[in-house]
Amino acid sequence: RNNAEKFEFQAEVSRLMDIIINSLYSNKDIFLRELISNASDALDKIRFLSLTDKEVLGEGDTSKLEIQIKLDKEKKILSLRDRGIGMTKEDLIKNLGTIAKSGTSAFVEKMQSSGDLNLIGQFGVGFYSVYLVADYVEVISKHNDDKQYVWESKADGAFAISEDTWNEPLGRGTEIRLHLRDEAQEYLEESKLKELVKKYSEFINFPIYIWASKEVDVEVPADEDDSSDEEEHADTSSSEEGEDEDAEKSEDDDAEKKPKTKKVKETTYEWELLNDVKAIWLRSPKEVTEEEYTKFYHSLAKDFSDEKPMAWSHFTAEGDVEFKAVLFVPPKAPQDLYESYYNTNKANLKLYVRRVFISEEFDELLPKYLSFLKGLVDSDTLPLNVSREMLQAHSSLKTIKKKLIRKALDMIRKIAEEDPDESSGKDDKEVEKSGDDDDEKKGQYTKFWNEFGKSIKLGIIEDATNRNRLAKLLRFESTKSDGKLTSLDQYISRMKSGQKDIFYITGTSKEQLEKSPFLERLKKKNYEVIFFTDPVDEYLMQYLMDYDGKQFQNVSKEGLKIGKDSKNKELKESFKELTKWWKGALASENVDEVKISNRLDNTPCVVVTSKFGWSANMERIMQSQTL
Ligand code: ADP
Ligand code: MG
Repeated sequence: RNNAEKFEFQAEVSRLMDIIINSLYSNKDIFLRELISNASDALDKIRFLSLTDKEVLGEGDTSKLEIQIKLDKEKKILSLRDRGIGMTKEDLIKNLGTIAKSGTSAFVEKMQSSGDLNLIGQFGVGFYSVYLVADYVEVISKHNDDKQYVWESKADGAFAISEDTWNEPLGRGTEIRLHLRDEAQEYLEESKLKELVKKYSEFINFPIYIWASKEVDVEVPADEDDSSDEEEHADTSSSEEGEDEDAEKSEDDDAEKKPKTKKVKETTYEWELLNDVKAIWLRSPKEVTEEEYTKFYHSLAKDFSDEKPMAWSHFTAEGDVEFKAVLFVPPKAPQDLYESYYNTNKANLKLYVRRVFISEEFDELLPKYLSFLKGLVDSDTLPLNVSREMLQAHSSLKTIKKKLIRKALDMIRKIAEEDPDESSGKDDKEVEKSGDDDDEKKGQYTKFWNEFGKSIKLGIIEDATNRNRLAKLLRFESTKSDGKLTSLDQYISRMKSGQKDIFYITGTSKEQLEKSPFLERLKKKNYEVIFFTDPVDEYLMQYLMDYDGKQFQNVSKEGLKIGKDSKNKELKESFKELTKWWKGALASENVDEVKISNRLDNTPCVVVTSKFGWSANMERIMQSQTL
């Protein structure tokens, strides 16, 4: 085309496309999911803009927020069109080729090791999956602010953009034309497309139509020249009714008449609606099946592994602030969950206002430590026709957030309550459960803890209001937990009579801590000591001062009291000279004091940290951070 401008794909994008083109990945269907998802995003965007400016929607067909699919068997083209926001020329250049998304190289790496393309949508490069089935792709797009353009590429390292002077004007939106590869002709079968759209569009909130063929019976004249004669015949025969001979004759005439008009099959086309746009969160939780929640989670999280979410909570909040929400605990934590935790906003809740999608980057809905949850909030109280910034400052958000946190913590608490492994340690409260459920719920809290335990600890640090609720969710190993996880409540239930404080020790590993001289006496006297081995635990314990009326005591710090020790005073007195001499001898070593110890058994002496100073473990952590 003479007005085409040529561009080269950014290097990472080009590599990604090569991999996709040459991929042996068998589940090629996923391209359709990605295209529908992009169309739906584009429709969400224009609908959002229309809240503050109705004009943007345009008139007539252009204003219809829908998706259309067409098949052209002769030309071997599958096309998908949306009336979404569209792309300007600049958008086309940037979004489809020259600017790599941050996830691109991560995905390329993952692809090379696993070959699994299923997660492509999570990495923000879903569009390129079209090259699983097509060797030539055209993207025709019209944005309100620009003319209509065509992007095209054969995935040979380059793409071209031309002003569109030959296709039908789109009004607004995007049409993607896939020129299907020979081995992908199945995507021209209507039945296949219908099946796939149904599968992938269950949670798409816009109507999706297919240009569907329909066989209809039409009556056509058998022989056009004779038709008038036959009609006359028919008239005569009916007037001669009653006479036997004539009746016979007239029957013969009928036989002749039959081919007068004949039925033939004719193919007509019409738009057929393929999805039901009733949103799952508007339905009653009782009516939604486990399978539906699982599928909804997959589409929401763009996580198409077959794993079930660990838990979910679907509820309606009523009162001053009304909203519906669905929250999910994912089956696994993403690898980068705690990377640059304090510098990035990773909001994972989608916000809708009265069914209209507003944003998925709304970090006011959940605190950082709960950002591992996925889900959706649909509010009836928030105003629709205001900007995102104004929404962000709306007073109901605080109430929504508060309720969401409560519900989220309840949901997590329930994972523990329903886990038979958790209750096995408790003798007081037996949780009733059916056998089948037991199997599925068994070990779930340990699994949760291994994936997201750090978030609970960060919550204790960040969220003073819910600190106690979060502390209940805390798990750790201890000198008596027998290699399993235990909780503060369980610890307290095992406390010795007369024991006032909750004892803990921090370090790099359980193995190292078990040998610690600080534990000698405590162990001998049968006191339980918690092992905290995660670097974040040191910070955690600066915030978690008490639980259930009991103080926490680091056993490597000053202030440890183990029952009553009557000999103590005597010993102090008799070793006074020695301790004094030691203090003098260690004067240059920053030693504050030398004392007779009540915590040792075999070890002759040990270095203890002052009550408000850093523990030795904390010193180690701080040093490794500054290195
Ligand atoms: P993602 O959808 O995760 O952003 P994709 O690779 O699927 O990644 O799409 C890349 C970008 O191309 C989108 O972010 C969007 O800006 C643009 N895009 C793709 N399809 C459409 C469409 N149908 N309408 C408008 N923009 C689109
Ligand atoms: Mg996409």
